[in-house]
Amino acid sequence: MSRTAESIVAFNGHFARELAEMALPWKGEEAPNPELLVLNEPLAASLGLDPASLHDSEGLQLLTGNLVPQGATPVAQAYAGHQFGWYAPRLGDGRALLLGEIADVDGRLVDVHLKGSGRTPFARNGDGRAVVGPMLREYIVSEAMHALGIPTTRSLAVVATGRSVQRESLQPGAVLTRVASSHLRVGSFQYARATGNLDLLRRLADHAIARHYAAAAEAEHPYLAMFQAVIAAQAELVAQWMLVGFVHGVMNTDNMTISGETIDYGPCAFMEAFDPAAVYSSIDDAGRYAYGNQPLAAEWNLSRLAEALLPLLHDDEEQAVALAVDSLGAFRRTYSAAWSAGMAAKLGLSSGPDDEATSALVDDVLVLLREGQVDYTSFFRRLGAAARGQADAARSMFPDPAGFDAWAARWRALGPDADVMDRVNPVYIPRNHLVEEALAAATGGDLEPLYRLLDAVVSPFDERPGLERFAAAAPESFGSYRTFCGT
Ligand code: AMP
Ligand code: MG
Repeated sequence: MSRTAESIVAFNGHFARELAEMALPWKGEEAPNPELLVLNEPLAASLGLDPASLHDSEGLQLLTGNLVPQGATPVAQAYAGHQFGWYAPRLGDGRALLLGEIADVDGRLVDVHLKGSGRTPFARNGDGRAVVGPMLREYIVSEAMHALGIPTTRSLAVVATGRSVQRESLQPGAVLTRVASSHLRVGSFQYARATGNLDLLRRLADHAIARHYAAAAEAEHPYLAMFQAVIAAQAELVAQWMLVGFVHGVMNTDNMTISGETIDYGPCAFMEAFDPAAVYSSIDDAGRYAYGNQPLAAEWNLSRLAEALLPLLHDDEEQAVALAVDSLGAFRRTYSAAWSAGMAAKLGLSSGPDDEATSALVDDVLVLLREGQVDYTSFFRRLGAAARGQADAARSMFPDPAGFDAWAARWRALGPDADVMDRVNPVYIPRNHLVEEALAAATGGDLEPLYRLLDAVVSPFDERPGLERFAAAAPESFGSYRTFCGT
């Protein structure tokens, strides 16, 4: 018996209906020969999808935007954004579609979104397509982030389209199916505000509250409460990035969510040698989005969100500005608290009477790591062994072991808990050389390195024999790493 598309999953079209001014009905470009490269079976199950239903031809049609399930109203979303500080009034989904929302097994609504599904009216000069390498990169890194416990959009599948796409060379085309608690961005609010349509701005905020910040609806001032909730979510998120050494690479306001999930894995990278100035993106010459600048960049973006929200905060602009400025003040406090607590946990220390000593230890170890160009991830993991009395592995990472010894004596005096450390300091992250190796193999048709890397990074804290190479820093021959966006 042939299944109908509806039996795969029931779609809602809340965004398309409630925010029609920002939702352009569109459909996917035909994929000549779709082939499933990777499917996230646990995620499919959590969405109530039968993984088998996504393997067959109807499933592949759905995952490439060629089959529009009943209830789905595929749209390209309009948004604006500041890119590297410059305002672009009309960005929008140039190569993506929101199929609609579905309810997961807990009844929570999530967006199902296709990236690489063909040109839309927002495409400008772009071809509307995506290629296998970068879509698998998003799959790997987003799933690694999720496994690290960091809020993020998820990756359900990558399907090769069977079409060759012109980049620097011809590359196999692909579509990524992305699942997110929503695709509302700071840039969505900038777009709504710029239309001058206050009713649209209000509907957008109501939609965001309904989907992400239900508690704000009960507040005395729901829009202000929503703004403050976004500030808190983003402060916590960026603190998490910093704690694992993640460099997003393109923190434009169109790439910052309202939900507080990480989105748009383009030129991102995990830092190896600790360096606040670490920057990988080939187009970020000034280091605007360098590792150590990320909290400032987030705060800057939230100020742009504040500007977009002003008419909802107060009828009187001066008073609206005062409310916004006051709320923004919480960013640094929330960020610092999250970062300090996270750093203490990385050192196996809990907050309490030794807070001052802990914060001095954090400051001092970061200086040692920077001066010694020590691998950030491996150091903290090896420090867990040092808490159990085996300090050699950590100690040997420093060109000046005496400096480490002096620091470690102070640290040990506070009684670090190695088990706490092993729960927060990952063994396996998607290291740049491993990601590149997996993508190059997959682009050439060999998916095994991808599956092996995924296996390591989706259980990042669970050290397993045989996976040593996934825990090691890049060989020197890998050189200095550059990443590219918009591919
Ligand atoms: P990003 O840097 O990926 O966040 O994308 C910035 C903007 O460029 C968004 O509006 C994208 O939809 C658009 N874009 C990126 N790549 C393409 C492409 N190949 N074709 C059409 N639009 C694109
Ligand atoms: Mg983007």
